[in-house]
Amino acid sequence: MKKSLTILGSTGSIGVQALEIAKQLALPVCALTAGSNAALLEEQIRAFRPEFAALLDEKAAQELSRRVGDLPTQVMCGADGIAQCAAAGAHTVLNAIVGIAGLAPTLCAINAGSDIALANKETLVAGGSLVTSAVLEKGVRLLPVDSEHSAIFQALQGEELKSVKRLILTASGGPFFGKSREELKDVTLADALKHPNWDMGAKITVDSATMFNKGLELIEAVRLFDVPADSIEVVIHRQSVVHSLVEYADNSVIAQMGVPDMKIPIQYALTYPKRRPCPVEPLSLTKYGTLTFHEPDDDAFPAIRLARRACAEDATVVYNGANEIANELFRTGKIGFLDITSLVEQALDEWKLKSGKRKVGYTLEDVHNMDKWARDFVLSKVRNSTITCVYSLLT
Ligand code: NDP
Ligand code: MG
Repeated sequence: MKKSLTILGSTGSIGVQALEIAKQLALPVCALTAGSNAALLEEQIRAFRPEFAALLDEKAAQELSRRVGDLPTQVMCGADGIAQCAAAGAHTVLNAIVGIAGLAPTLCAINAGSDIALANKETLVAGGSLVTSAVLEKGVRLLPVDSEHSAIFQALQGEELKSVKRLILTASGGPFFGKSREELKDVTLADALKHPNWDMGAKITVDSATMFNKGLELIEAVRLFDVPADSIEVVIHRQSVVHSLVEYADNSVIAQMGVPDMKIPIQYALTYPKRRPCPVEPLSLTKYGTLTFHEPDDDAFPAIRLARRACAEDATVVYNGANEIANELFRTGKIGFLDITSLVEQALDEWKLKSGKRKVGYTLEDVHNMDKWARDFVLSKVRNSTITCVYSLLT
């Protein structure tokens, strides 16, 4: 297999940084994909000359095809085009698509025998054992890109999994750290998008403000490291310097640290098990001076508790789907900030009532059906105005 890289979601926050790393490492690029951003994808194609490219949006793909008609890159479109890029046989496929839309391409890449560098956490939260069993069956590597999971992966190197006692995930706490539930009632999208440490896409930035990002990451850690949810602790660490920690049987704790810059975990996933110089600032502990750690506030931010509940009730697809649509409704001004959590909790309640006996093992179709059920449930609640605000904005 070629030592090449495919990036799914190359025009996003992670995708753009991954291309910087690809340039730094002189990795040949096999395929690049995006949703609709033809202009940036054209620039990337001209700079990296991939064999294949795809856009989800059909019109944008036609425009891209015209724009790069002078190049040999084959342009495809739609979910099928993205799946073909994922399955094009690159050595590593870095999945930086946002949301459950990343799940099917991850499975295509695994089935094609590519290693997966995974930023798209929703792949593991919704796909669960569908993904982890495909990885085992195909004998490919699943390398975390999410900074906390990369930190844990790094802290596990050379250690025995059976001597792990606890994983400690750090969370920045987002822009609303310290606010009470009452104070969160009227926060706006602009407030939610002001993340203190990271510059990320809009969906994950809102997830950081609600703490659903940490709930999703808790589930991601359960799947990646095959540990129970109750052996994972979440600690608020405002500076985002300690990226996560592993506690061992002897109570020794190993942490991975560095400046908050996604290029470090992206590059580690691409060079693993080797390390290479990376274009980020070195960490100066004395510049920070103080590193702080706090317990999360479950009353103001119940998303972590709901993630534990979703694991226990085998409802992580519902947790993810309800959150994705509620996050989008908040970003489009249709619901308030606190409604996001309330809607996810209501979806979990309703799913528990309706789902009855647990099923063993899911197909991709089951996952898509559960996801659709969760989205439809949230939309119906908003249309029926059982929540506090701005139902009238819904068309
Ligand atoms: P962005 O929104 O910045 O980028 C998303 C990328 O996916 C873009 O290239 C976008 O294309 C493409 N895309 C969007 N929707 C679809 C779709 N339905 N089908 C195919 N492609 C699509 O997101 P981020 O880079 O911030 O995040 C990507 C993933 O990485 C998320 O799962 C996030 O949770 C995770 N992550 C991100 C971190 C960060 O620092 N940003 C940190 C850790 C994890 P277009 O530009 O055309 O819309
Ligand atoms: Mg993270």
